[in-house]
Amino acid sequence: MDHVKHLKCLICGKEYAPDEVAYVCPDHGNDGILDVRYDYKLIGARISRESLAANPDTTVWRYKPLLPVYPDAPVPPLTIGGTPLYKAERLAAELGLKYVWVKDDGRLPTASFKDRASVLAVVKAREKGAAMITTASTGNAAAALSGICASVKQPNVIFVPEKAPAAKIAQLLVFGSTVMLVKGTYDDAFELCLQAAAAYGWYNRNTAYNPYMTEGKKTAVYEICEQLHWHAPDAIFVSVGDGCIIGGLHKGLKDLLALGWIEHMPRIYGVQAAGSAFMYEAWRDGEDVLTKAPVSGVTVADSISAGLPRDRIKAMAAVTETGGAYICVSDDEILASIPALARATGVFGEPAGAAAHTGLVKAVDLGLVSPEDRIVILNTGNGLKDVAGAMKSVEMVGTKANRVEPDLADLQRVMAELGR
Ligand SMILES: *Cc1c(COP(=O)(O)O)cnc(C)c1O
Ligand SMILES: [Zn+2]
Repeated sequence: MDHVKHLKCLICGKEYAPDEVAYVCPDHGNDGILDVRYDYKLIGARISRESLAANPDTTVWRYKPLLPVYPDAPVPPLTIGGTPLYKAERLAAELGLKYVWVKDDGRLPTASFKDRASVLAVVKAREKGAAMITTASTGNAAAALSGICASVKQPNVIFVPEKAPAAKIAQLLVFGSTVMLVKGTYDDAFELCLQAAAAYGWYNRNTAYNPYMTEGKKTAVYEICEQLHWHAPDAIFVSVGDGCIIGGLHKGLKDLLALGWIEHMPRIYGVQAAGSAFMYEAWRDGEDVLTKAPVSGVTVADSISAGLPRDRIKAMAAVTETGGAYICVSDDEILASIPALARATGVFGEPAGAAAHTGLVKAVDLGLVSPEDRIVILNTGNGLKDVAGAMKSVEMVGTKANRVEPDLADLQRVMAELGR
């Protein structure tokens, strides 16, 4: 792995050789998140935009020379990556914009963006010969780890809040994970998982603790830029919970700039739910994310519920270093975006996925984007992950199913009532 130079502590800047530390900076505990630093000269000699164009592999492994893994590392068989980037012309027109695309990561094997990170955890764990992998999760990171572990018969223990949506818990059970429903919040599950990993010696996938999760998540922007023929967008909208996805997008874009594959850094917009708006508040008030007190973290968008975002240093840099913004939206606005996004594009997102759309709507209102901007919104999770949320959303916009007797006359009565 000569292309990985070192792991750098985001707090003290100390650099560690990749095999010198397992997860965080020993001097800074759980806040001492490490960033993987690369030798771009070496990478540039091994992979190019031209070599990619000739590579038939559509998975994230097409970018293997840019990932912190050995060239011959065995990878799980599930098809992770290569999700569609749809040009959303009607959605753009509704908002007075010209160029909007939707990247649909609800299409990944376990139906959320988290597959991109969890697959890297599984590869790294197997590199170390780990007997057990563990993670805490609001649901999707767990489902992703669970499914990918199943694909390679890797034992794993999962910690999720007991109130996680049923579909996500069902995934864990179907894939055969050992499931711990924690009587508490995601933050409680996270702390318990860290303690368990230390006590049992399990490989730890936890977001913003394991430095490699950012590296998996960055593959989404590689795909976006490649799908746009290396003409980077002007703005990217993504919802933010722990802040690992937004940090990953920023990292990927920095990689592409360093390689000279794109010419400018897009503005990154982080969308947060009003009840879980730690990053938004810190950004708005110029607060230090390391000393700011946790918020309650209550939102209908369970995947972005995080009282204390674990990846808050990277999450703040992603916005401030790119000239983006944090945007705060209400739960009702998020719910309204589920049918709005679905009806304009055919993409059905879970609440946290649709929240990216809500953020764009608000950004238009706030004058943060111009009609000429080339904009990507990221759907991070499939709508079927949270049917209760989806049903609430259609109820809110007044969409109801019709009850009809099984005969044509009654159907005609109903159609007449509907004015059809
Ligand atoms: C995890 C998740 C997010 C937020 O990602 P963070 O890294 O926690 O900010 C957004 N949407 C979905 C569907 C997710 O599963
Ligand atoms: Zn440190």
